[in-house]
Amino acid sequence: MINSELRELYQQVILDHNKNPKNFGKIDPHNHSAEGFNPLCGDHLFIYLQTEGDVITNISFEGGGCAISKSSASLMTEALKGKSITEAKEFFERFHNMVTGQASEDDDFEDLDKLAIFQGVRDFPVRVKCASLSWHTMIAALDNNNKSISTE
Ligand code: ZN
Repeated sequence: MINSELRELYQQVILDHNKNPKNFGKIDPHNHSAEGFNPLCGDHLFIYLQTEGDVITNISFEGGGCAISKSSASLMTEALKGKSITEAKEFFERFHNMVTGQASEDDDFEDLDKLAIFQGVRDFPVRVKCASLSWHTMIAALDNNNKSISTE
C-alpha cells in the first residue's frame, strides 16, 4: 500500500474507535484503577483492571478526550484483555518506544498489530502524550493502585 492509503486506513481505525470505543465504562468488580490526565490536550481517562494472579481478565476505560487518546485507550483494552501483567508491561515498552521514536528504523511493529497505527504520532510531539496517556495510566493502575497521573 502506498503511504496515503495507509494514512487513510489509520485515520479510519482511529475515527471508528473514537466513535464506538471498545471496553468503555467502569467494570465491576475491578481490583486496579487509576486516573490519567493530559493537561496539554484536556484528555482525562480512568483505567480499570481486574486481575487474577498474573492475568488481566478484564480491562476497561472511562472518560473523554481527543480522538487519538480515546482510540488508543480502546485499542489498548482490546490488546491487553487476557494477557499477563508481564506481557502488558512489554506491550507498554514497545508502544512507548514506537510513539516516542526510540525504536529502530526498520522496526515494523508487526507484533503490536492494530496498535501500529499510532506510529505516525511520533512526528507530532503534542499527540504522543494523547496516544500514550491510557498506557501510562494502565501501568499506574497495576503498580500504584488508585493513583492519578499527569503527563505534565
Ligand atoms: Zn489528546
